[in-house]
Amino acid sequence: MTRTVRFSKNTANIFFHILTQCNLRCRHCYINPQQHGTERLDSATMQAWLRIMARRAPGANLVLLGGEPTLHPDLPDAVRSARSLGYNSITIDTNGYLFHDILDRITPTEVDFISFSLDGASAATNDPIRGAGSFAVCTQGIRKAAAKGFATSLIYTVSRINLSELQAVPAMLARLPVDHLFIQVIGLRGQSATCKADPLLPLQVSRQQWQDHVLPVARQVARQGIRVTYPKVYLDMDEPFECAGRVADNYFIFPNGRVYRCPLCEDYPIHSLLIDQTQLTEAAPINEADLFLLDIAEGCVMNKLVQPQNLAYLPNGRPAYKIACCLLKEELQPEL
Ligand code: SF4
Ligand code: SF4
Repeated sequence: MTRTVRFSKNTANIFFHILTQCNLRCRHCYINPQQHGTERLDSATMQAWLRIMARRAPGANLVLLGGEPTLHPDLPDAVRSARSLGYNSITIDTNGYLFHDILDRITPTEVDFISFSLDGASAATNDPIRGAGSFAVCTQGIRKAAAKGFATSLIYTVSRINLSELQAVPAMLARLPVDHLFIQVIGLRGQSATCKADPLLPLQVSRQQWQDHVLPVARQVARQGIRVTYPKVYLDMDEPFECAGRVADNYFIFPNGRVYRCPLCEDYPIHSLLIDQTQLTEAAPINEADLFLLDIAEGCVMNKLVQPQNLAYLPNGRPAYKIACCLLKEELQPEL
């Protein structure tokens, strides 16, 4: 059964970028060193920030990411510190290269999920997007992690380049030990809706493409016993719209100390919070929080500002649909 995961002030999610360095150069990467910094946080700082955030949002779900977080030699310290601070769940988002023997330096009881990113069901589709050899390395990483007892998830970011291959994902997952599939949509974070190597190449899929391709695949994967989560993206005009910045508790932390509440704002210096060794402070207005208060017929304000190409209008000038908050998810439970 499809369930929309409603926003809740009682569930906090923290996305902690511990560095921005990466061994890959994916075509749609949202990391923006100019805005997010190039620092690699030292172990003491990571632990201080985890303590500060645990006080701000007790029992939050924590995602440790980068760049490539396993390039950080002190990642196991961050994992253990988070566990001892009582975070509800701990996930490591990786491109699958699993540097510094990470699987031998943490245990399945210390992390809830290791989440791998693949953007194709074959090397022929994935590797031109994520880098030569990355499909083989990532799928091998998933198998290694599962063999050691880690729960695994897979993130597949849908764009015009790999949309047609989404239908091959269920067959791929029949052969790969993955517990949870996240279908993501290009352009939800940062300026990734166009290809960095070719800024004129639009990657964003249309509403029709999203409905025709994503939902059938999600249902098929759930029937295979795998939980599936995907963003809602489009809302009919009579469906309720909510901005997570107003009604939920999400934090996107970057190594330069910027803390955003909305991932669509990350390419601009409009973060609403700042973190340092000792505290989390409110940033001066005007910032993203002021935008969250605006109500427009098209739904998400930031989408209209940074990705207006996602919108469509009727002949009478009214929007044909609303764009949902990029953090609004739907979930399909595995059918066992
Ligand atoms: S693996 Fe992630 S951080 Fe690295 S280039 Fe790809 S999208 Fe960017
Ligand atoms: S994506 Fe849009 S609706 Fe969601 S938090 Fe950002 S501004 Fe608000």
